Amino acid sequence: METLIHQGLLPWHEQVWTDVVRASQAGGGLLLFGPSGHGKRFLGRRLAQALLCEHPLPGQHPCGHCQGCLLFNAGQHPDFIEIVPEALVDDFVRLRREDDESDDKEKKASKEIRIKDIRNLARMTTLTAHRGGKRVILIWPADEMNLESANAILKTLEEPGEGLCFVLVASHPAKLIPTVRSRVKSVDCGAASAVQATQWLAYRGVADSAKALGLGVGAPLKALFLFEQAAKDDSVALREQCLEWLLQAALSGVKERPVGLEALGLPQWLQTVLLLGYEVMRVKQGRPPLHLHWIEPQLQKVRLAGETALPAYLENCIDFMPMATHPLNLRMQLDDLAVRWASCFKV
Ligand SMILES: [Zn+2]
Repeated sequence: METLIHQGLLPWHEQVWTDVVRASQAGGGLLLFGPSGHGKRFLGRRLAQALLCEHPLPGQHPCGHCQGCLLFNAGQHPDFIEIVPEALVDDFVRLRREDDESDDKEKKASKEIRIKDIRNLARMTTLTAHRGGKRVILIWPADEMNLESANAILKTLEEPGEGLCFVLVASHPAKLIPTVRSRVKSVDCGAASAVQATQWLAYRGVADSAKALGLGVGAPLKALFLFEQAAKDDSVALREQCLEWLLQAALSGVKERPVGLEALGLPQWLQTVLLLGYEVMRVKQGRPPLHLHWIEPQLQKVRLAGETALPAYLENCIDFMPMATHPLNLRMQLDDLAVRWASCFKV
């Protein structure tokens, strides 16, 4: 995914680009928010590159050729720091890491931004820019900062050094502490429309881009990730199998689970239940499915066992989601999930 969309502006961000640039020119901090999987982080990086570009093009687009752009694209710009939780570090970030965090290798990588993730910050904020221009700190996902980290950032947001720009990127801005939110300019990055997303996926070489977008729950970057993942392992095939099995359970009751399907893992199972469950509810309300258009005829045939069972069950699944990463007994959990799922329907 990195190589495919590392450079350039995503088509659905072309409109918002002007707002983002304008907001950044006032200095201080910026919060880019919008739904997950629509490329806000790449918009944030594009902005960082534009701020560090030494010969920006009209519209404040980065030139791509100056020393600043070359260093940025190589992941080596000394005036750019991207703060990402350990569990989400990718090659682009890894390039500029000074050490490989070997002391933490044994521990499970955190999805939270912890104080140690922002340890370089203090040093960065006291220095002047290496290349004489701006300095940019991008934090993603900013809504995953724990309280200690958020408070540490807050001090710098209150008194940013000369030419220091913070770019916070978040899908759930309400999770940020209000004192941080009030000190940054918020820009709604919007979302790709289904047409924009399918066209973009097709352009990126995704076969059956509409189906990929459906499995990615309408988020083009998730869809692209799934497509690329499908070439590496069977996770996408498993997800489709899981969807089909749950659909059959809704239509004709729980049958034996196909061998190997538990390899998908409980969080993915729950996500598939939610995806399918909300599509059933839409279709029952007389609306077309939002994501799973290719199974609309079967969705029409599903009969609900009462008005409240399915919505209540889906709420339950959402509540259970944070506990799903370490199931004590996966098979038992999946059996229970399937039985309760099927009880929402008349078979
Ligand atoms: Zn440049």
